[in-house]
Amino acid sequence: MSGTHRILAPVWSFSFFLSAVFGCSRFWLEDPPNIVLITMDTTRADHCSVHGYERDTTPNLRRLAEQGTRFDSAYSPTSTTASSHATIFTGLYPLTHRVLKNGIRLSDDFATLAERLQGEGYQTAAVVGSFAMAGKFGFAQGFSSYDDRFLRDQSTFEVTQWQGHPVEEGFDRRADSTSRHAIEWLREKWDGQRPFFLFVHFFDPHFPYDPPERFETQLDLQPSEFEDAKQARLHEKIAKYDAEIAFTDFEIGKILDVLREKDLEEHTIVIVTGDHGEGLMDHGYLMHAVHIYEEQVRVPFLIRWPGTIAAGRVIDAPLEMVDLAPTLLGLIDRLPHDAEFPGRNLARCLRTKIRSRWIRTTRSFCIANISSRE
Ligand SMILES: [Zn+2]
Repeated sequence: MSGTHRILAPVWSFSFFLSAVFGCSRFWLEDPPNIVLITMDTTRADHCSVHGYERDTTPNLRRLAEQGTRFDSAYSPTSTTASSHATIFTGLYPLTHRVLKNGIRLSDDFATLAERLQGEGYQTAAVVGSFAMAGKFGFAQGFSSYDDRFLRDQSTFEVTQWQGHPVEEGFDRRADSTSRHAIEWLREKWDGQRPFFLFVHFFDPHFPYDPPERFETQLDLQPSEFEDAKQARLHEKIAKYDAEIAFTDFEIGKILDVLREKDLEEHTIVIVTGDHGEGLMDHGYLMHAVHIYEEQVRVPFLIRWPGTIAAGRVIDAPLEMVDLAPTLLGLIDRLPHDAEFPGRNLARCLRTKIRSRWIRTTRSFCIANISSRE
């Protein structure tokens, strides 16, 4: 048994004792929080202003970080969409879940976050932004609603085949469409009774970089000063890539606005992260899914739950994407006794009231206390 389980065991035992005495089966979290999990495709942490980028690409994420905790060293396990999302969903490394590239189906043998939360009484829904995340690849497991329909006339990519699979309609959709469908679900499909788990995948920072023009204007992108034509073209591509991140941030902001309007902020855990980064020629490659250099695997990671997770805290200790599932389940007190997650449950680290400065300067505290594995 891992150290994580040993730490949690007394908590479960205590809960069980109180349940037996007071007759309630959900002592610790009588009213489990809603969960919104958002992934930004192809988003490098160092191109997000919330993580220090000089262009203000993510004003909404900056506000989210002020209300929650930011991990500055979060890493995806690969630089490929399906592999990384399979890790987010299962809490397992790619060599275990075997989705080693796009187009491979996630096996039904694995318990996904959506299945676990559905089993706990959550109403589950997903809206995804590209065919790479289509339900046919096993990602819809545990979701009662999985919105993966892409219209051909709204797609960025015009393909009829992808990774050996026929693409019968469109391949992807834009961020404004993704957020609209997510908001429609929140307003019209959530029953308002059960806690919900809403997963939203935004595809836009993925190549080709063709943001709505106003986001290029908003970032006040300056013309290239490079005389070398190749450098000038790269400068222009990076500017457009940044504007795609700004577009995605803007649409994420709309979802966060709805949570506020519906007075759900206090009772909703929000996580925003990425599936992988983008090369942008730092090591001679423009896109991703080839290398695991820093720029292709370091992703944004923010988590907010007002009143429970510290506001404005920054943790620079490394976070792996395998930590996401056990941490989320740990936060809502639903981490199974027998779950064999290779990652760490960081819930205690997030919940703790100790001063943020202490966490930042003694990073080993966060790791050693929470995950003393043997
Ligand atoms: Zn991706």
